[in-house]
Amino acid sequence: MIRTIVKDVLFLEQKSELATKEDIEVINDLIDTLNANLDHCVGLAANMIGVKKRILVFSVGNIIVPMVNPVIIKKENPYETEESCLSLMGSRKTKRYEKIEVEYLDKNFKKHKQIFTGFTAQIIQHEVDHFEGIII
Ligand SMILES: [Zn+2]
Repeated sequence: MIRTIVKDVLFLEQKSELATKEDIEVINDLIDTLNANLDHCVGLAANMIGVKKRILVFSVGNIIVPMVNPVIIKKENPYETEESCLSLMGSRKTKRYEKIEVEYLDKNFKKHKQIFTGFTAQIIQHEVDHFEGIII
């Protein structure tokens, strides 16, 4: 189901909790909502659709990848960049890392450990910040 994007900063500044198998619908809603916003959005965290759980989705071309309870376990090569967010107006400067290693569960709650670089790594870092209540 396509959900409305939350823009309430006080809500978005709250931390998210670990997701469980009962949150499977949240994953589906995130995929549907990102699909509906793909022309101007590359990733979503669950709190952006009003659910304070550690679930994110991001797009790679036309494919949407969900991650449940992702943790960034390694960061390399910091750089300065500028980002925008569907929950905010305009763009802001931020520091990201060119290469990250992430531990996460897939949609079936199977564990993965994977290295991401460049733009995909940037999206994941942005969405993981949302879990901590950080909006860029
Ligand atoms: Zn955002």
